[in-house]
Amino acid sequence: MVSFAKNYGIVKNRLKGKRVAVIGLGRSNVPLIRFLLDLGCTVIARDKKSREELSSVTQKYEKEDITFMFGSRYLENLEEEYLFLTPGMPKDLPEIKKAVEKGAVIDSEMGLFLFLCQGKTIGITGSAGKTTTTALLGEIFLRSGKKSYVGGNIGNPLLLEAAHIKKDDYAILELSSFQLEMLKQSPDIAAILNIYPNHLDQHRTMEAYVEAKKNIYRFQKKQDVTILNADNEITLNMGQDVPGKTMYFSVDRSASSSINAYLHEDKIMFFKDGAEEEICSISDILLPGAHNAANVMAAVAIAKECQIETHHVREAIRNFRGIEHRISFVREHKGVKYFNDSKATTPESTICAIGSFDDPIHLIAGGYDKKISFDELADCIVNNVKRLILIGVTADKIEEAVRNKIELSENGPEIVRCESLEEAVKTSSQAKSGEIVLLSPACASFDMFDNFEKRGEAYHKLVQKMS
Ligand code: ADP
Repeated sequence: MVSFAKNYGIVKNRLKGKRVAVIGLGRSNVPLIRFLLDLGCTVIARDKKSREELSSVTQKYEKEDITFMFGSRYLENLEEEYLFLTPGMPKDLPEIKKAVEKGAVIDSEMGLFLFLCQGKTIGITGSAGKTTTTALLGEIFLRSGKKSYVGGNIGNPLLLEAAHIKKDDYAILELSSFQLEMLKQSPDIAAILNIYPNHLDQHRTMEAYVEAKKNIYRFQKKQDVTILNADNEITLNMGQDVPGKTMYFSVDRSASSSINAYLHEDKIMFFKDGAEEEICSISDILLPGAHNAANVMAAVAIAKECQIETHHVREAIRNFRGIEHRISFVREHKGVKYFNDSKATTPESTICAIGSFDDPIHLIAGGYDKKISFDELADCIVNNVKRLILIGVTADKIEEAVRNKIELSENGPEIVRCESLEEAVKTSSQAKSGEIVLLSPACASFDMFDNFEKRGEAYHKLVQKMS
């Protein structure tokens, strides 16, 4: 029988006494250092940030015998046998490629967790909606009384808890493409919410991005389950190569024997083994937009697969208010409603946000360039946005895409350019009563902010200050 102790023993045999590199000292790799030290590894911790920037990490481990390598030469003499990479660390850097050619093995915090975890593992991925769906599923489990641990990309590394997770417990894991890329094991239950072009600056090609996502089911066994979005062409087609069982959810399709979660009139329904069941009404969902109905359906399908009773699922849905920075309401000022969707770091998410409102929209968009096309977003903006306020590095690109569409359709929004978010919020005060101001940048934040949270918080403050 497999047990934590047995698998821990295997990991220990493999890594004890070895020189291991922990590359990228972010949220998941910092606790990983503790784990590796306890195994008896010699840890070389590397990060391109400076020692000052990472003083919290050096302080945490000041009593330990660790070699830290910071700054521009952080990958020098990369001769360790194991390289634990932070998610998102490019694998094609010359130093890493060279180390791998010489025999170094790439592994990750999530890879170790999946190997060690004795509970049922649930992985949730997708280009958008991961955090929302993971958090909702966590709430559903809480109400059900089944013991669960929520972690992964949502910001709660679980490796150090793996020893406590029992066979009947569940680990609910948000998995990014970067985490998936390094896995050699899939979760027992996998869900892919959707796949749109994303992170192409790092994955280089759409094919590489899709291949990374496939790791969520690639190593599954016959008895495992993958839940897919039937409305998204890429995920729909994945059904053909899933090794285990497949379930589908769909907002667009009506009941059929192959769709398990779907809409019937204004109800979310679940169908399995010949039995149809009403889960809740669409009006029970407090989050706006059809995309959130899709997220709810994915959570429903997972919950039903885990035999959670419907009344627990329904109650959790009715009480789930979503998470900050995802089309969150900030304030009503002079009859104008302000929304913060700073987490919309892809055009698809901004399209979904625009589609969630019926009132005229003043859209604040633009940010770091992830090399994604703005063509489809431009179509949506031309047809649905009254005033477009552009900031950040991609302002030119978005403006060009929108102007091309305006030329064709001869209508479209007024376009305003701003140097800062502050200026953008200032000019948004031209919105009239009954209109919406929506920060939904369609881009990451790194050109102007450390992360999307900081961008959302800045927006929140600026909007609250308006008088
Ligand atoms: P992720 O964790 O995948 O980045 P989030 O739940 O944090 O997803 O949501 C990120 C952004 O995407 C938000 O702007 C949110 O409103 C939007 N979004 C959420 N679910 C979906 C979906 N199913 N399809 C498209 N956009 C979505």
